[in-house]
Amino acid sequence: MKVRHDIHTHTLFSSCCYDPEATAAAFVEKAHELGHSVFGFSNHIWDERVPGASNWYKGQTVGYGLEEKDAIPSNTHGIKILFGTETEYCGMTDNLGMLAETAKKFDYILVPHSHTHQKNFVMAENPDVKAYRKTLAAEICEKLPGISEEQAQRMASTVKYQEVLAAIKEHTVDDGEYLADFLFTSFESLMVHPEFVKMAASVPTLIAHPFYPCGESKEQLSRVLGMLLAQKDRLFDDFSTAARMNVGLDVNIGTYRSAEDYKDDPMVAVMRIALEAGCKFGFGTDSHSLKGLENIRKGDAIGDAIGITEKDIADII
Ligand SMILES: [Zn+2]
Ligand SMILES: [Zn+2]
Repeated sequence: MKVRHDIHTHTLFSSCCYDPEATAAAFVEKAHELGHSVFGFSNHIWDERVPGASNWYKGQTVGYGLEEKDAIPSNTHGIKILFGTETEYCGMTDNLGMLAETAKKFDYILVPHSHTHQKNFVMAENPDVKAYRKTLAAEICEKLPGISEEQAQRMASTVKYQEVLAAIKEHTVDDGEYLADFLFTSFESLMVHPEFVKMAASVPTLIAHPFYPCGESKEQLSRVLGMLLAQKDRLFDDFSTAARMNVGLDVNIGTYRSAEDYKDDPMVAVMRIALEAGCKFGFGTDSHSLKGLENIRKGDAIGDAIGITEKDIADII
C-alpha cells in the first residue's frame, strides 16, 4: 500500500523542533510534493486546565497551539488538512494532559503512553537509580560540608539517568524488565482512565508510538520489545481493548529499524498483533523538520510488512 498521509508531525510550535523551515505553510507544500491526500499537524500540547504540567510543557498550552491554525495556507492543493495534537499521558501519576472537553477543539488526538525518557514525569526512575542518587547526595554532603542537603540532592539529580545506571554495581531491578512492565501497565491504565475513555468516545484518538520506549539504546530497545513479545497474549488483549474503544494506533516511522526489509523488525511484530486484534492505524513520520517528512516513503514497506491495507486505516484519514 502506498501511504498517502502523515498525521504525526511537529512544526516550530513544538518546543523540540529546531528547524527554521518547519512552518505550517512549508509542511503543506511538502505534503503536496509527497502526494499526500491527508496531512495532520500534531504539536505537543498540555491542556492548561489540567494541573501537573512539567516545565517543558508549561508554554505549550492549548491557546498557543491553536494559534497555528491561522498559519495554515488557504490553498492546500486539495489535501485534507487535519488539525490535531500530541498530548501526554503520565503513567506514573495516571495523569492525562488534556480534558476530553478540550480535545473537541482538535480534529484528532495522539496520546503517547511511552515518553519514557521524561523521567519522574511520565515514568518514575528505576528504584536502583533513585537509591543511587540518594547515596550520591549523602557523599556530596560529606565531602563538601559547605553544601546544604538540598543542594547536594539537586547535584545528584543532574547526573544523567544512563550514567547512573551504568555506575550501579549491583542491580536489584533489571531496567529492561522495568521498562517493559511500565509499557504494559501505562497502556492498560490509560485505557481505563475516565477522561481518556470520554475523549476516545468523542474525538478520533490514536496512541502515539504504542509500546515504544523513547530514548533507549538499540540494544535495550531490542531487549524490551523482546520482553513485550514474550507476552503476546497480553499485547493482544491490550490491543483488543483499544480496538473495542475505536482507539487507533500511530505507525510511527522512526520506531522501525531502517532496513530494506522490515519483516524481522520487532516493532512490526508488535503491530501485527495489533492488526490481528482489529486495530486501525494512521501513519506518521513524527518529523520535527521539513526534510524529515520525506521519511513517510519508508511507511510503504513498513505497512506491507505489518500487513496493513486501506481497510485498516483509521476512519479520520
Ligand atoms: Zn511522542
Ligand atoms: Zn511526536
